[in-house]
Amino acid sequence: YQSLLSEMSDQLATSILLDRLASLLTEELPRRLQVAWATLSVLDQDGELLVPTHETSFPPLHVHHSLVEYLRHLRYPLLRLRPPPDTPSEVQSFLERHGVELAVPLTVGSEVVGLYVLGPKRSGKMYTVYDVRLLSILSRQAAASVQNARLYRQVEAYSHSLEEQVQLRTRELQEAYRDLARQHATLNVVLENVADGLVVTDIEGRIVMLNPVFADIVGGTPEELRGRRLNRVLTADVLCQAVRTAMQDPTSVISVDIEHADRVYRASACALQGEGHPLSGVVTVLRDITHEVEMARMKDEFVSIVSHELRTPLTSVLGFVHLIQRRFNRHIIPSLPQENRRVQRAVERIVENLRIIIIEGERLTRLINNLLDLSRMEAGRLQWDMGEVEINDVIQSSIAATASLAQAKGLVVRSETADGLPTLYGDRDRLVQVVTNLLSNAIKFTDEGEVVVRAWRLEPGQEIAPFGVRQPNVQLNLPATEPMVVVSVTDTGTGIAEEDLAQVFEKFHQVGDRETGTRRPGTGLGLPICKEIVEHHGGQIWVESRLGEGSRFTFTLPVRRVPAN
Ligand code: ADP
Repeated sequence: YQSLLSEMSDQLATSILLDRLASLLTEELPRRLQVAWATLSVLDQDGELLVPTHETSFPPLHVHHSLVEYLRHLRYPLLRLRPPPDTPSEVQSFLERHGVELAVPLTVGSEVVGLYVLGPKRSGKMYTVYDVRLLSILSRQAAASVQNARLYRQVEAYSHSLEEQVQLRTRELQEAYRDLARQHATLNVVLENVADGLVVTDIEGRIVMLNPVFADIVGGTPEELRGRRLNRVLTADVLCQAVRTAMQDPTSVISVDIEHADRVYRASACALQGEGHPLSGVVTVLRDITHEVEMARMKDEFVSIVSHELRTPLTSVLGFVHLIQRRFNRHIIPSLPQENRRVQRAVERIVENLRIIIIEGERLTRLINNLLDLSRMEAGRLQWDMGEVEINDVIQSSIAATASLAQAKGLVVRSETADGLPTLYGDRDRLVQVVTNLLSNAIKFTDEGEVVVRAWRLEPGQEIAPFGVRQPNVQLNLPATEPMVVVSVTDTGTGIAEEDLAQVFEKFHQVGDRETGTRRPGTGLGLPICKEIVEHHGGQIWVESRLGEGSRFTFTLPVRRVPAN
């Protein structure tokens, strides 16, 4: 027994694999003790059967089985033939039914971790006290090994799940990396194939990224250009200024037109700054607009040639019509027989037709003049006659120019101008054109009430009291540092519908009279011209209106000192 005990306990102590433990207890030990069969049931923490060993008719057990419960209470081997008196009868009958001679609990503390069950001895003899003691000692050893085996299994399961997690994360990372690489490749393809030149500069203005179109524009290979300063590669002051401005104002896109190697490009610079990230540079896109610029120039040229060509014959047509009218009135009408009604009717018709020819001829002349003016202003080819201007003088001249119009409609044009308005620097006649235009529109669209021209000085920080709904596409730029002169023309006329307000300053835009469905005579070029003139003077013009109650057109002019020369 002594040698068996030490040998088996050595082996049990070093077994952390349940299979090995099971084979020791169910094969080796029964053989050495001459026992017919033995089985080991190991229970896991949840009481489930982990290792059913040895093929016997002995059933798998659960932790709540009456035998397990009883052995937990007994904590000692149970001999079928010598059970303690409190052995429940169901336990006893269970042992008999399955031919169990000895049931040994494998306990660790109060927990039953397994059950070691043995059949009869081959000799037919009963288990001796020594047998029971030996088995109970070995069972304690086995219980410790089962516990170790369980821990080992746990560690193994844990390491297995850890390994799985690592594999999963690795797969996810690989996938993310592949995605990123794919996106990067797509982005590269886009950059390579974009029709515009694209260049990214860092905060010091060095090129960090560029596409082949940009390399072609500036002449060089991407490798040569990377790392160089943008202002060395493209020597356009406006571009450098735009890039600098984009960095100072990271929310806006700055666009400038630059000329480079006989071509014109529109450069749009925008700061590279993600939300919550610091400014990392500027991305600039260069679009070749040479063709558009050429088309615009040709259009301007065409308009100016055509209008010029039309104006000359039109002037003589009008001249002759006036002549005919005068001669007809002076010499022909008096010599015609007054009593002939047919002749008189013909005379009336001729007089009316001449009047219409003159009105339409003048309208055409105005249209052509306006077209010419506008195309010259837009092309920057208009000669401006800049000098000292008194705004009061401008207003009085405009009122005088529209006096007959106002009189014809029985309207009063009033002026309310502040005293001591500063002298402005500008083109007097063009400013008269602006006010005259606004006044004649006001008179044209007003049937009752009055038209008022106001002029005042607006100090920095001062506001302008609103009048109805303001044109939506203007951002008022009121003086921040310098004072301005403000001129407004207010009428009590038809007003302009809210949806039309955005377009009144567009070329050829005429709003129909909604109630009557008619349009008043005009060219639709007056307001665009006013806008060009005001903007040339560094001012702003806009409209506010109350439909059915009237409109107010307002423009500002900065007070600039007359340049000394
Ligand atoms: P037009 O020669 O037709 O007057 P404008 O450019 O001067 O061309 O004006 C464009 C349109 O704006 C006009 O046709 C009219 O519909 C509208 N408009 C301009 N001024 C007024 C005003 N004082 N009251 C109402 N509508 C106006």
